[in-house]
Amino acid sequence: MLNVSHLTKKYHRFVANDNLSFMVSDGETAVIAGPNGAGKSTAIKCIAGLLRFEGEIELCGFNNKSIEAKKVLGYVPEIPAPFDLLTVWEHMEFIARAYSLENWESRAEELMRRLELTDKRDKLGKELSKGMQQKISICCALLIEPKVVLFDEPLVGLDPHAIKELKAMLAEMKKKGTTIIISTHMLESVEDIWDKVFIMMNGRIEAERTRKFVEESGENLEELFFNITEGGSGAEVP
Ligand code: ADP
Ligand code: MG
Repeated sequence: MLNVSHLTKKYHRFVANDNLSFMVSDGETAVIAGPNGAGKSTAIKCIAGLLRFEGEIELCGFNNKSIEAKKVLGYVPEIPAPFDLLTVWEHMEFIARAYSLENWESRAEELMRRLELTDKRDKLGKELSKGMQQKISICCALLIEPKVVLFDEPLVGLDPHAIKELKAMLAEMKKKGTTIIISTHMLESVEDIWDKVFIMMNGRIEAERTRKFVEESGENLEELFFNITEGGSGAEVP
C-alpha cells in the first residue's frame, strides 16, 4: 500500500510537486499520467526516498525513508544506471546480498530469461544497450519481490517482446497483491493495465479516475487528458 499525503517538492523556488495526496491499495495498479515536465518523475523519486520533500509518504504503513519501507520497495528509474563494471549476473548477486535474499538464483534466472538477458549474463553494465540496461533495472527491482513497485516510463525504449513480458509480469504481481505505480506521458500505452489514473499537470494532480468510474460513466479518458494538458505552460521537452 502507498499513501502520499501533502507531498510538495520544490527545486529552489520552483514547485515541481504541489501538495499531492493520493493512495494506492494492495493489488492496485495506478498510473501517473501527464506531459513532460508535469512532475511525474519528481513524485516517483520522492516516493522512492531519493529526494527531500515536504509532506508524508508511507509504504505498507512505514515512513518511506525507513529501512522497513526500503525493504519492500522496487524502483525502476526513467534512466537506467547500472554499474559499469558489474556483469548482468553480478547485478543480481549484488541486489541479493544487499537485501539478504535467500534462494534467489532461480528467480534471477527466470527474470533474465523472460527479459531475454540470459545470453548477456557475463556482459558488463557498460557494454549493454540502453534497452538492455533498462531490463537489468527491471530484473533488479523485481528480484526482491517488492510489495510496492515504481516504474518511471517503463515502456519507453523496451522492445515489443519485453513490453509483452513486462505487462505479463505486472499482471502476475497484481494478483499477488503488489502495489504498482507507473508513470507515463502516453496514456494509451497502459490502457489495458490501469486501475486508477492520476492526471498531472504543472506539478498538480488535476484529475483522479478509477477504471470502474470511467467504464460506468463512459467518460473518454483521452479527451479528459488532453483537456487538462493541452496548451499547458508547464510542458517541456525532457
Ligand atoms: P516529468 O517526469 O513529468 O516529465 P519531472 O518531475 O522530471 O517531470 O520534472 C518536473 C519539473 O521539475 C520540470 O519543470 C523540470 O524541469 C523540473 N526539474 C526536475 N528535476 C529538477 C532538478 N533536479 N532541478 C531543477 N528542476 C528540476
Ligand atoms: Mg519523467
